[in-house]
Amino acid sequence: MTGTGNALEDIPEALRDKKQLEADDNFRFGCHPGVPCFNTCCRDVNILLTPLDILRLARRLGISTTEVIAKHTLKPINKQMTLPVLMLRMNDTGEKECPFVGDEGCTVYEDRPWSCRMYPLAMAVPPARAGDESPEPMYFLLEDSFCKGHVEAGGFTVAGWRDNQGVTEHEELERSYRELHSHPWFIGGVRQLTPAGMEMYFMATYDLDTFRRFVLESTFQQRFEIEEDVIEKLRTDDYALMQFSARWLRYALFQEPTIKVREDAPPSRRNR
Ligand code: SF4
Ligand code: SF4
Repeated sequence: MTGTGNALEDIPEALRDKKQLEADDNFRFGCHPGVPCFNTCCRDVNILLTPLDILRLARRLGISTTEVIAKHTLKPINKQMTLPVLMLRMNDTGEKECPFVGDEGCTVYEDRPWSCRMYPLAMAVPPARAGDESPEPMYFLLEDSFCKGHVEAGGFTVAGWRDNQGVTEHEELERSYRELHSHPWFIGGVRQLTPAGMEMYFMATYDLDTFRRFVLESTFQQRFEIEEDVIEKLRTDDYALMQFSARWLRYALFQEPTIKVREDAPPSRRNR
């Protein structure tokens, strides 16, 4: 068992031998262009992407979420996954460097992915259990030998590092998606989403530009009762769209009453 009462099997294998930290625990770390390892961590690395990462990269690069997914991501397939995830695609060269690394460092720094902000910390969220349906994240210190940041001056608490790196400010959005991954619907590991459910999840989380069209330009509004002010916001407000997508997925995947079907809704194709 770990310090938080979670079983070892709740933690991804790669983190089981790492030092676990609580939110107010301290660690020594400093990263700046003067470190001898500058940019070393931006090559040949597995970077899981959150839906917010895709959205921010899309806005930063001036392309759609669909294009970011096609151009810059990989979709690992693993039978144990309950929901699909995306990873940043490294360049197809010997060095396998990140497509966004430049001589001066990260070229998308203000919109860099969540994992890049968190490093050298990693986080794991245990699966939900009956009686504990919103498990708290667990934090781990990654002490990679190539990273010399651990011998630099400077110290942070876990919470302080998250603030410093701009993680905390989007915590609510990130948490709403994390809660889908650890949703009680999956308790016991017996239930699996259908391929159509997986596709819906993928669109509504990662491909938000397509999801916006699905809500605003399909028969969606004929079928579901959505508040007018919410619909207006969804046209232009990306973060409102993200909040709505988490609400929609709770209804569509887990049958929670977060969305109301219109009384005069046309019959769904499944019922025809
Ligand atoms: S996105 Fe930026 S910080 Fe993250 S690996 Fe690429 S270059 Fe490095
Ligand atoms: S100190 Fe660590 S995080 Fe910073 S550039 Fe070096 S390897 Fe990357």
